[in-house]
Amino acid sequence: MQLTLPLSQDTREPVVLTASRRLAHAMRLSYAANAQARGLSVWRTPQILPWSTWLKREYLEARALARDGASVKRVLSGAQSRALWDDIVAESRFARELLNPSNAARLAARSWRRLHEYLIPIEALESFDTPEARALESWCRDFVARCRALRAIDEAELTTWAHEQAFVPANEVACAGFDSMPPSMRRLIDRWRVAGRYVELDANAKSASDVSVIGAEDAAAELTALAAWAREQVAAGVERVGVILGDLQQRRDEAVRAFEDAFAPGERSVGRTPTGIPVVIAAASPLASYPLVDAALLVLRLASTASHEDAGRLLRTPFVAGGTSERSLRALADLRLREEQRERWDWFELERWASMTGCDVLQRTARKVNEVLRTFSGTALASEWAERFQALWLASGWPGERTLNSLEHQTLEKVRSVLAELGSLDGVAGRMSLPRALARLRDICAETPFEPESVSGAVTVIDAATSAGMQFDALWVAGLDADRLPAPINPDTLIPIELQRRAGIPESTAEGVLDQAAAQLQRWLRSTKRLVLSWPKRAGDAVLQLSPLVARLGIEPRSPQARHAHASLSEHLFAARPQLEEVQDDQAPPLARAASGGARTIELQSRCAFRAQAELRLHARPLPRVGLGVEPLDRGAILHRVLEDVWGRLQTHARLVDADDEALERLVRESAERNAARALRPDTRHRVRLAALEIESVVRQVLRLLEVERARVPFSIRFAEAAETFSLGGLTITLRPDRIDELSDGGALLIDYKLGDSHRPRDWIDVVPGRPRRPQLPLYGLAHAERLRALAYVVLAPGAVEYRGWSDGTEIGAGISPYPYGVRTDLGDPADWTALLHHWRFTLTKLAERYVAGDARVDPLPQECSLCHLSTFCRIHELSTARNVRAREAGVNDE
Ligand code: SF4
Repeated sequence: MQLTLPLSQDTREPVVLTASRRLAHAMRLSYAANAQARGLSVWRTPQILPWSTWLKREYLEARALARDGASVKRVLSGAQSRALWDDIVAESRFARELLNPSNAARLAARSWRRLHEYLIPIEALESFDTPEARALESWCRDFVARCRALRAIDEAELTTWAHEQAFVPANEVACAGFDSMPPSMRRLIDRWRVAGRYVELDANAKSASDVSVIGAEDAAAELTALAAWAREQVAAGVERVGVILGDLQQRRDEAVRAFEDAFAPGERSVGRTPTGIPVVIAAASPLASYPLVDAALLVLRLASTASHEDAGRLLRTPFVAGGTSERSLRALADLRLREEQRERWDWFELERWASMTGCDVLQRTARKVNEVLRTFSGTALASEWAERFQALWLASGWPGERTLNSLEHQTLEKVRSVLAELGSLDGVAGRMSLPRALARLRDICAETPFEPESVSGAVTVIDAATSAGMQFDALWVAGLDADRLPAPINPDTLIPIELQRRAGIPESTAEGVLDQAAAQLQRWLRSTKRLVLSWPKRAGDAVLQLSPLVARLGIEPRSPQARHAHASLSEHLFAARPQLEEVQDDQAPPLARAASGGARTIELQSRCAFRAQAELRLHARPLPRVGLGVEPLDRGAILHRVLEDVWGRLQTHARLVDADDEALERLVRESAERNAARALRPDTRHRVRLAALEIESVVRQVLRLLEVERARVPFSIRFAEAAETFSLGGLTITLRPDRIDELSDGGALLIDYKLGDSHRPRDWIDVVPGRPRRPQLPLYGLAHAERLRALAYVVLAPGAVEYRGWSDGTEIGAGISPYPYGVRTDLGDPADWTALLHHWRFTLTKLAERYVAGDARVDPLPQECSLCHLSTFCRIHELSTARNVRAREAGVNDE
């Protein structure tokens, strides 16, 4: 980015004080560009500094020159101030009423700064009897006392120091990029002006001569339009293009994608930034959000106690020893770790785990880390923790074995400086435990904005506040709807509103925010020759109006220019595919032996042939889910086992009817407790509580089901959960029906227990010809066709415990309807029970034959892919892109 900076080569030129670090950087670059343009090869570096940095430097110089240097206070760093505020709020009498003391500490620090900027004395808070005012007053007084004890001063107090000491700078100063100045700063400037030490920068910028207003359909369309516009400006040779996005921090990723698609369509891919894009997205992210920093914090978190998620992430990170060379083994170890379902992990557990899973490098690394950990004891000072953390990182091999790229190098340096900040907390934080020290470091990383240096580009994307003082050749300001310009009032949370209004804090009044917005608009008009102002016309269903301040300019809004529509990334990738010979390869080798998938074999073959072959023959399974609650699989196992126990004892409907309620509940509860203990392993307090809740739920549902079963026509249980083999269409599989009931007048009812409420008998009939969605019970029915009278789901879902099934007309009980009467059938569905059985035999035999033959077509039933984990394996999305592109090409050719 370049700027026109009206500075000369005069050695007595003023020190320029900027509103932001970014503006200072931009002005220095601009100065260098001007010097080069004048043919200079060497020039004097101008002094351009952010206001806060300069004031702190002047204070430190004054302190060094003071006769009695020892009497002058030191300046607290940001981390030191933060640590003080944290302790003050956490130890105060208000802490118990706070939901989030850490956040309250942040708010208190911000209010403290505001009090100084707007010259509000702490005593002024005394006359307000609100909880916020009382808390703020108490915290501020405590902060003053602690600073006095430490012989330290906070950065927020430096303007007060300068005023009280009648400080006047030795050289002339000038300010740049301040839309408005708080009173504490203004009174200093006034004094320096009188003393002849303040000069105005020559405001040579003129108002924009070409202003347009654009209404885009929505925020996404606005972003696409401005990225395309920026590309056109660069192509036309415009050197300094600016884009101002108000909510840049939240929309950073979206903005990056829009500019990449506009400047390098088709080049975007995972883990790679397209090269040669002349765009700088000027939005710093918290340091903790960088993967290298996340890995560093993970190493430390595992030094106390971490979750299974942390352990899994450590196994997957490349930023520890062996993270790259051992990644395949660690991926398998991660898979097994999910199956382990252990909640708490640390480096000692990881060492054991690494030895069990063959991850030798990890095992050696964990051993080294554990050796370091054994040397730690009790609490320590922050500087000692900084050294210990460094030792842990060294032992873990952080930052990994591969060569770091430029961004990672800069991040590494930043982490080192942050560790030094932690080390500087000795005086303010005292001795602390490992979790406390780690929490401090995590807070510092979370609150340190970090933006790696990048090569400057022709286009700068920036937020409204940081853009103050910058000049562009062409500028687009987005998001100017009536809700955001002017912004809603945003008073300080802790300072009483009356005090804020009296002190003139602009965010506290409607007039204040209106004035700020008007000044901002005037600044944009003066900071470029060509200005585009835009707003999104819609946000979801809400219609947004153009800001009245922009409307007042009297420029007729227009729509974004219809530019060449960019094809989507997937279409670019598809268009760039190598032209290969196409081979239709949807046939796996025929099956040579009995399948092992049970009834699921036929079900998957029906849902999607590719999925059946991939899951059952290639074992392409999803990674197990690791959750804190009860997994559906465990819940199902408990319910099945309890029902098996209960019916194993009862055996007949008659005994159920005769059973005493209390004895029945005792039987159910004992079984639920025994099976929950086996499935849920309640070895921690959390899991004991979870198991207790689960037992109650199982007891409730099973007793409710037994109530329903009591009302049935008499029956007896033939067997429950017994395995049986069945052959169909050349396929021999093992079936395991949940229950078979012998009916009193002969024949059998086949039952399947289901935990979800979504199961309906309708799924037993074809969705597309020859392919039902859930053929499991029909398959059981075919295995018992001679005696089959009915099939039913027994649904055990929260709020629904009931039978859902079809019969051949035999009276069985509520929820089982005679087929096809009482059942909604479609044209082409089997006409009666006999036809239904015949249809199932035909379709399921065909499906079995196709599975045996190796049919592996990517051919899912409708909505099937949304529940499947194999889309990257079957590449169904490429198939749909190919179909779209081909359909479009066919359409073009038709024309
Ligand atoms: S994602 Fe769809 S097409 Fe691919 S295997 Fe799964 S169900 Fe079949």
